Amino acid sequence: MIVAGVSAVVVVLAERPLVMPLALWVERQNWGFVYQFGLPPWFEIAAALVLMDYAFYVWHVLMHRVPFLWRMHLVHHVDLDLDASTALRFHFTEMLASIPWRAGQVVLIGLTPFSFSVWQCLFILSILFHHSNIELSICWERWLNKVIVTPRMHGIHHSIVERETNSNWSSGLTIWDWLHGTLRLNVPQAEVTIGVPAFQEQKAVTLPRILCATF
Ligand SMILES: [Zn+2]
Repeated sequence: MIVAGVSAVVVVLAERPLVMPLALWVERQNWGFVYQFGLPPWFEIAAALVLMDYAFYVWHVLMHRVPFLWRMHLVHHVDLDLDASTALRFHFTEMLASIPWRAGQVVLIGLTPFSFSVWQCLFILSILFHHSNIELSICWERWLNKVIVTPRMHGIHHSIVERETNSNWSSGLTIWDWLHGTLRLNVPQAEVTIGVPAFQEQKAVTLPRILCATF
């Protein structure tokens, strides 16, 4: 909770004061990709939300592929027990590193304060859901993960097995994993061990170690 609390403070103090004025400017100027086609306003909002989701997929891939970003993101992955609290367990340096990316998303895609707030709400609900330990029937899992990321699907991404970690990068819609060929659903839940190989013991994931892991 302390890790999540520090990150929440960073978001409130650093992200919102930068991103919200940018979103206001985007709204006044009609700036950004989604405004270039004269689409109905509701379609512009929907398109902005979908593109934000895709940009987050790319960001998530970068967090795993770029070594210094991975050192920040691994704090989220060292949790040995996946539940809704894991969804909030991001190192504050990851939140700081994401601010320029978020600002770029808002300006290039064209997010207004309203669409940014809607995206944030949907994003938080989505990550709380797919990190939760809700046990959906396999039938529900299969139906839902045709469209959105489900707990079992995201659990595979949190596996200690590298090829499983390097799959299921989507955070909202599953279409990005479908399109990039990174979707992996054929792993029995009982065979998934959650965590990062170097941090498999409880004493390796204490608060000081987690906070220092990035450095
Ligand atoms: Zn990840």
